[in-house]
Amino acid sequence: MVGDLLSKLPWLKPLLRTKFYSSCECNSAKPCSFFCRDCMGSAFCEDCLYHPHKHVGHQSLRVYKSSSRVGLRVKSIRKLMDVSDIQPYTCNSSKLVYLNRKGRNDHVNRINGRKVDKCEVCGHELQCYSSKFCSIECKVQSEIEVEETEKEEVGISISITRLLQVDPNSFRKRMRKGTPLRSPFF
Ligand SMILES: [Zn+2]
Ligand SMILES: [Zn+2]
Ligand SMILES: [Zn+2]
Repeated sequence: MVGDLLSKLPWLKPLLRTKFYSSCECNSAKPCSFFCRDCMGSAFCEDCLYHPHKHVGHQSLRVYKSSSRVGLRVKSIRKLMDVSDIQPYTCNSSKLVYLNRKGRNDHVNRINGRKVDKCEVCGHELQCYSSKFCSIECKVQSEIEVEETEKEEVGISISITRLLQVDPNSFRKRMRKGTPLRSPFF
């Protein structure tokens, strides 16, 4: 369903904006590889995860780093959202889906003359033919774009209805005078 992901999963947008693997606010040397779905704050380390006054009893997600990108284990995220159309990557024998797209300028669609499948949103190449998106970010973005197109279409049909409501008498008068027919809305 369109636009469903962000409304169903309020933590998804904050998660996609979170910076991982920086130093934790608790000054521990452990990497920030956790995100709390209840607090939706910044990323935190393992010490904070088990801290008695921080996220005990909260639902947290662990991220993993692969090829300098951050992803979630398919095994854990698929319980929360459908990731079957997102390109999975194997990392230490488990499958990951990346959180964010790699870069905006990645529009290569051929490698050595061989056509490769691309992410529907950012154009990043995909290795898996059944995938549509390179990352969770692109899947979310595609939903937002569909929603905006639908809003635009509604706007267009409203202005057409208005055009049809133009008084037919004034329309005929103008036609007789030979005035060029022009919509008053443009
Ligand atoms: Zn910490
Ligand atoms: Zn928390
Ligand atoms: Zn993409």
